[in-house]
Amino acid sequence: MRLHGQVSIITGGAQGIGLAIAARLAAEGSAVVIADLNAEGAERAARTLSESGPAALAVGIDITSEEGRARLVSAALERHGRIDVLVNNAGILPRVPLMEVTPEVWHRTMQVNLDAAFFCSQAVLPTMRAQGRGRIINISSMSARTGGQASPPHYATSKTGLVGMTRALARVVGAWGVTVNAVAPGMIDTDMLAALTPEQRQWWLDQIPLARLGTPEDVAGAVAFLASDDASYITGATLDVNGGYFMI
Ligand code: NAD
Repeated sequence: MRLHGQVSIITGGAQGIGLAIAARLAAEGSAVVIADLNAEGAERAARTLSESGPAALAVGIDITSEEGRARLVSAALERHGRIDVLVNNAGILPRVPLMEVTPEVWHRTMQVNLDAAFFCSQAVLPTMRAQGRGRIINISSMSARTGGQASPPHYATSKTGLVGMTRALARVVGAWGVTVNAVAPGMIDTDMLAALTPEQRQWWLDQIPLARLGTPEDVAGAVAFLASDDASYITGATLDVNGGYFMI
């Protein structure tokens, strides 16, 4: 119960890694606010989590919308009066080959994966600053380390941007008592990997030292650590959760 009495916002929390993060933070004692484009999925997730922990709140928004982000922060503050943790997890992976990437694909990828993480952070920072404490955790990707291998350049670029943004924000907001860190998951078994063929899946299993794909719970454990007081002197860092596939 390292997060007892805290309030956490998780974007993209309706399914996959975001849902596992929400469940883990709730198990650590945090009230959770799930923000997702899939309003019905967010409601379902919040109902399920509320059965075994503190009441979870669902907010159906597109995180690329300024109005949506304002609604998210208001909903969290109206319900709980504080925001301790923001997990910028929502992301998209448009599987478009390099020479077919249009400006629309490029911009949408940046807007969801990078711009929205910046503006969601900006939206919660006044509250965290007033509290004198906060945690921002950005879900990047192993593609930020490798240049992308299982993913195309527009996605890898957006996730590499998140690592740089993590460092840049950490520098500015450290004096406010806010830490900013990233988690770079490797191959995690969610809908995002549904496009892998059995042969591709086996190729990855052969390359990963721990000889398995990651689970959403593997990522959630790293996020819970970074959200907790155990990580109070860690900021600007990117934590690799990839079974050892990429090491620095
Ligand atoms: P997923 O597709 O299963 O879930 C993503 C969630 O984000 C969905 O619920 C979706 O509705 C939501 N979302 C998408 N766009 C949104 C928007 N504009 N506004 C609000 N919500 C939006 O993906 P996942 O595998 O759980 O991935 C979660 C995060 O982890 C993503 O940022 C992804 O890039 C990253 N990641 C995943 C893997 C992997 O192997 N699965 C690896 C590295 C990084």
